Amino acid sequence: MKSYCIIGGGLAGLSLAGRLLLAGEKITLIDDACPSGASRLAAGMFNIVTGKHAVKTWLAEELLADLKAFFEIPIFEKLQQYIHYQPLYRPFKDIGEYNDWLGKYQSPELKDYIRFQATQIQADIFANPLGGIFIENCGWLDTTGFLQGLLAILNEFPHFQYIEKKIAATQIDLQEKQIVWEEKPIFFDELILANGWQISQESIWQIPLLPVKGEILRIYAPDLQLPFLLSGKIYVIPTGSGHFIAGATYEWDFAHNEPTQAGKEILCAHLDELLQVKYEIISHGAGIRPTTHDRRPVLGTHPQFPHLHVFTGFGTKGVLSFAHFSQIMAGYLQGKNSLGKEYDVQRYYRKGRMKG
Ligand SMILES: Cc1cc2nc3c(=O)[nH]c(=O)nc-3n(C[C@H](O)[C@H](O)[C@H](O)COP(=O)(O)OP(=O)(O)OC[C@H]3O[C@@H](n4cnc5c(N)ncnc54)[C@H](O)[C@@H]3O)c2cc1C
Repeated sequence: MKSYCIIGGGLAGLSLAGRLLLAGEKITLIDDACPSGASRLAAGMFNIVTGKHAVKTWLAEELLADLKAFFEIPIFEKLQQYIHYQPLYRPFKDIGEYNDWLGKYQSPELKDYIRFQATQIQADIFANPLGGIFIENCGWLDTTGFLQGLLAILNEFPHFQYIEKKIAATQIDLQEKQIVWEEKPIFFDELILANGWQISQESIWQIPLLPVKGEILRIYAPDLQLPFLLSGKIYVIPTGSGHFIAGATYEWDFAHNEPTQAGKEILCAHLDELLQVKYEIISHGAGIRPTTHDRRPVLGTHPQFPHLHVFTGFGTKGVLSFAHFSQIMAGYLQGKNSLGKEYDVQRYYRKGRMKG
């Protein structure tokens, strides 16, 4: 049994811990449980046809299949209460987009996922004058409930230890393979940094991520009866009993990770454009996505410290990514599989973005 220390308890760190525990390994997971951590704040939506030009996501089928399979692992079955499969409705912005979709919705690549809606629906509650498309195989994950539930399951394992604490780079001793601790040192065979965007900031291994701040609202709109997720300039996710998550903003140049008045105004302007019903803001939050320049995750090992690894870079697709890539990362750490070039951290060294 090897001893793994994982820093970061978001979707990346916790799912990896779960995979390694199931494979019989010993895990210490350290997380500062910051409430604005991307995973806790995320809207949790998953959708495999995304972007301005609505193309199928890289590895779409594998990511979706592995997400479903994760919740079918017997010990994780009780987490199914947190995942909700629902179609997503995307109103057409203009007649150009309507015509584009008319031409492509039956293409072999998209026909199994797209339903064309040629006329408006539920126009009394939201604007969609030209109709839109329904995208199948979408949904949302209640990430807060899921992370709490997963941690509770992992806590049942005798070889799992959870420590709520922020670790400074100065506490990590890679020569002695220990985290220097005021009580007693934490020894590890392998150390995995799954600390989201913060790996680009202060860590012993600065990976050049492209962190993207996002702000999000939780709203109450009892007259908004939505049997699907709605996505225009803003997405609106029905979470039950008249409550919704509405988001998000995308900000590449930011001074802090707090919610701002400007962010709120952008979100409200989009909501006012889309919704025909009244809503009340319940809360407003902000977090930072661990995005990469090439929109691929970052997995792998430090070129000089063979026991130091990274697992991050999920960007805007944390939910679709965690199950697939935690399986790959766990297998890699155990020597069962290699890493794909597209997401191996070595690409930064090959391309000269980092010096080895
Ligand atoms: C506003 C917003 C909306 C989003 N909506 C969606 C969505 O709808 N669908 C989707 O799929 N994705 C969404 N995302 C993206 C998603 O949240 C991320 O891709 C994903 O959560 C990243 O997970 P992670 O575990 O890598 O990072 P994080 O969730 O950031 O986890 C890292 C953890 O490490 C901790 N940590 C950092 N440094 C230290 C340290 N030194 N010591 C101890 N602990 C440390 C952090 O506090 C945090 O708990 C959204 C993100 C934001 C900000």
